[in-house]
Amino acid sequence: MMITPFTTEKHEALRQHVRMFAETEIRPIAHKLDKEERFSPELTKKMGEAGFFGQYLPEKYGGQGLDYLSLVITVEEIARVDGSQASTVASHNSLGIGPIYYFGTEEQKQQFLPPLTKGDKLWAFALTETNAGSDSRGTETRANLESNQWVINGSKIFISNAGGPLAAGATVQAITKEENGKNELSIILINTNEPGFERERIANKMMWRSADTGKLKFTNVTVPEKNLLGERGKGSKMMLQTLDSGRLTIGAMGLGLAQGAYEMAMDYAHKREQFGQPIANFQVIAFKLADMATKIELARNTLYNAVWRKDNGKPFGKEAAMAKLYCSEVAKEVADEAVQIHGAYGLVQDSDIERFYRDQRILQIGEGTSEILKLVIGRHIGLK
Ligand SMILES: Cc1cc2nc3c(=O)[nH]c(=O)nc-3n(C[C@H](O)[C@H](O)[C@H](O)COP(=O)(O)OP(=O)(O)OC[C@H]3O[C@@H](n4cnc5c(N)ncnc54)[C@H](O)[C@@H]3O)c2cc1C
Repeated sequence: MMITPFTTEKHEALRQHVRMFAETEIRPIAHKLDKEERFSPELTKKMGEAGFFGQYLPEKYGGQGLDYLSLVITVEEIARVDGSQASTVASHNSLGIGPIYYFGTEEQKQQFLPPLTKGDKLWAFALTETNAGSDSRGTETRANLESNQWVINGSKIFISNAGGPLAAGATVQAITKEENGKNELSIILINTNEPGFERERIANKMMWRSADTGKLKFTNVTVPEKNLLGERGKGSKMMLQTLDSGRLTIGAMGLGLAQGAYEMAMDYAHKREQFGQPIANFQVIAFKLADMATKIELARNTLYNAVWRKDNGKPFGKEAAMAKLYCSEVAKEVADEAVQIHGAYGLVQDSDIERFYRDQRILQIGEGTSEILKLVIGRHIGLK
């Protein structure tokens, strides 16, 4: 059992449950799904039945009343085996469920949340557009209020859990008014089955190949006025607050991926013999493994500390940005060294470490690139 100052026996029991699931249900098919670039609704449903969706929601919304650390441990343990499935769970919980729970009215929570806790419906967070990436205020999608209904036109790109068969809807940032050259940004909840809502799955990704990433188009999509989430004009603020929590789950993906890559490298270094002995006996390889273990230890403490702050009602934006930045960079460094330890065998598509090496690359880009996170941290420490 892992012992940390942040986790209880209950957290560690959850870790064992998720680890067992990941080893028995995900590991045997992860390579095949990745190779075939196939999103598996069956596996997603199994993850729902195992209790991985909506853990931190109160029971009245279909949740389990757990803390955010429970979600972070869940994502970490899945990422130790497969980045794609970890991204499905992380995005749905933090970006899909999160804003509805944190900013929704009681009626919206009761309507939208319970169906999202079972694993047969996924909800997306649609911020990014072709001309609005890091600069998320550059949104061009528009929502006009006409006879008590929002009429939405525009498009979104690179949206997790939005293009596949389980995609039930999306939380969409749109311009709701233009005044004195300034755009008012708000958030609207849109079901995917609304007429005029077109979706396409993005293919040929380098990483997360068995996760669903979609491209969305809205042509006169019409939803009731009450689908506005939170306060009108506060859309960007709510989206950015959502990303603070989302970054904790990206950090968990970095940590879990690094842990998985390290374990593979450790195992291989003991099995692979050259010059008449296991390569782990060579000091230069042993030092690589020691460096990996140290970085993972630091990443886990940094991440769990940031999550502890969220769970205990303390400000956590700076710590979440630092944890996401650090864990994703550690994932890159550890995956790279793990490939090095595998030699040529780490470079062929049949090795799992090759998949880990590809899967880590998104972590320095999604939910705030490493460069943008340094700007965020800079603001927190008093820089302009
Ligand atoms: C698989 C996948 C899943 C995703 N899921 C979602 C999702 O669910 N919802 C969603 O809304 N988005 C999602 N995204 C989009 C993701 O959040 C964006 O890709 C990310 O925010 C960066 O935007 P961009 O790719 O347009 O890069 P750009 O913003 O164009 O950046 C390009 C480069 O310029 C740098 N840069 C930009 N501005 C600055 C600056 N001011 N200072 C210094 N450097 C700068 C960046 O760091 C980067 O290196 C996903 C992306 C992928 C690949």
